[in-house]
Amino acid sequence: MSTKSDDLAAESTVDVIAPRPRLLINNEYVDAKSRKTFATYNPATGRLVADVAEAGPADVDLAVAAARQAYESGHWGRASPAERGMFLRRFAALIEANVDHLAHLETLDSGMTIHTARGMIAGSIDTLLHFAGAASAIHGMTPQSGANALHYSLREPVGVVGSIVPWNAPITNAIWKLGPALAAGNTIILKPAELTPLTALRLGELLLEADMPPGVVNILPGYGIGAGDSLANHRGIDKVSFTGSTEVGKSILRASAGDLKHVSLELGGKTPLVVFADADLASAVSTAVAAFTTLSGQICTAGSRLLVQRGIYDEFVDRLAAKVESLVVGDPLGDSTDVGPLVSSGQRDRVVSYLASGRETGAITVAGGDAIPGNGYFVAPTVFTGVKNTMRVAREEIFGPVVSVIPFDDDNDAVALANDTPYGLAASLWTQNLSRAHRITRQLKSGTVWVNTWGGLDPTMPFGGYKQSGIGREFGLDWYYAYTENKAVYVSL
Ligand code: NAD
Repeated sequence: MSTKSDDLAAESTVDVIAPRPRLLINNEYVDAKSRKTFATYNPATGRLVADVAEAGPADVDLAVAAARQAYESGHWGRASPAERGMFLRRFAALIEANVDHLAHLETLDSGMTIHTARGMIAGSIDTLLHFAGAASAIHGMTPQSGANALHYSLREPVGVVGSIVPWNAPITNAIWKLGPALAAGNTIILKPAELTPLTALRLGELLLEADMPPGVVNILPGYGIGAGDSLANHRGIDKVSFTGSTEVGKSILRASAGDLKHVSLELGGKTPLVVFADADLASAVSTAVAAFTTLSGQICTAGSRLLVQRGIYDEFVDRLAAKVESLVVGDPLGDSTDVGPLVSSGQRDRVVSYLASGRETGAITVAGGDAIPGNGYFVAPTVFTGVKNTMRVAREEIFGPVVSVIPFDDDNDAVALANDTPYGLAASLWTQNLSRAHRITRQLKSGTVWVNTWGGLDPTMPFGGYKQSGIGREFGLDWYYAYTENKAVYVSL
């Protein structure tokens, strides 16, 4: 594994591309009422990138009032689906025109590699265009209701949505909230994660450039306690759409009980990759590596449990370790870098504590195994063998470049291991036996199943979790239900 965490390229360009690091409320960038700010750092160097206004309860009140006004009586509340679609198209075109700056800023703020940032922005544009079209597809229904009656249903926006997102893929997370909520006619308050506020603020500038009516999208950088919990508890919000950890998701659900807000939760995962002896090994090995190292393993669907059939186990582990050792870990702005840093020193330390836990409970390190010294927050991609599915490294979401390889004997064993987790976000199966693939797909308690692939998502397909990986789905047809109310109308003729 080659590492180059020193002498990183081009970070000073942030002066040129940093957005206004303030709160976006009612189409104006403003300081927090408290005048407080917080710092955001470049994970590759540990250096300050920007001081950003820190939203608190008073700012949440203002943003909710602006969003309510825009929804109830502003232009947005009266906009036709076609107008909403055109607005989303203008926004998508502006993102495309600014892709270089956005990708650079995303890398500086989150540490993701620049090529990953570009790929995720391209995916976000596709998602926005999908929802731009979908805005005109929202409709109710009219059943047969007899000669003297007319019964029909109306699909209406939920109203004011509070969207709270994590730091792992800031632009993607923001677009996944903005796209469906705006397509359905809602207004939004978006709270980016405190570790990565910058690209959401830049998206705010592009929304203004796209002629967004005042108050339709308000952006409140800030902490979970202060901004996030104020949103989750606010009586002026009709729905909270949350993406983040299962632990915080539970607190969002508790907060919603006060006024029975609608809630969608996209939470954590412990995705198994299940590799049968008949799989295409070269493809399975390289995908397994990508599945736990993309975004340095900071993905809700990261393939952090690698279940391998016993007959190919030794060969698979050898090939996996060799491939992991060949990865380039370092400057995320470098074109040849495979793995960037973790998002923060805290996240690095958390991952390192899982590495210690793995070793202490009997796991064997066959690649990586430690943090990489230097100012950046790098951890060497790590492969553990000798792992039992009961160990912490196999049960808890590490959110770092760490994979546990566990052998299995047959189909039943594979399914039992794959399902033996509190999570149920995604799973990936590797076999050339079509019947086995479909049979096992049905047995997996998982919101997404990939067969001979991993990681790809499509906004026309549902995405969300079984068990403690979430409540609801935000894509496919389900977004429609997640961001609209369904009103029944009975008319006597
Ligand atoms: P987190 O739960 O700590 O924080 C997520 C967001 O919630 C942040 O904006 C944070 O400020 C806010 N927050 C924290 N405490 C809050 C509170 N009490 N009330 C309201 N808001 C609060 O998660 P994270 O560490 O930022 O992100 C990693 C987690 O996100 C992982 O568990 C990962 O699996 C999950 N995730 C899930 C998906 C998905 O679609 N299922 C996608 C990406 C990440």
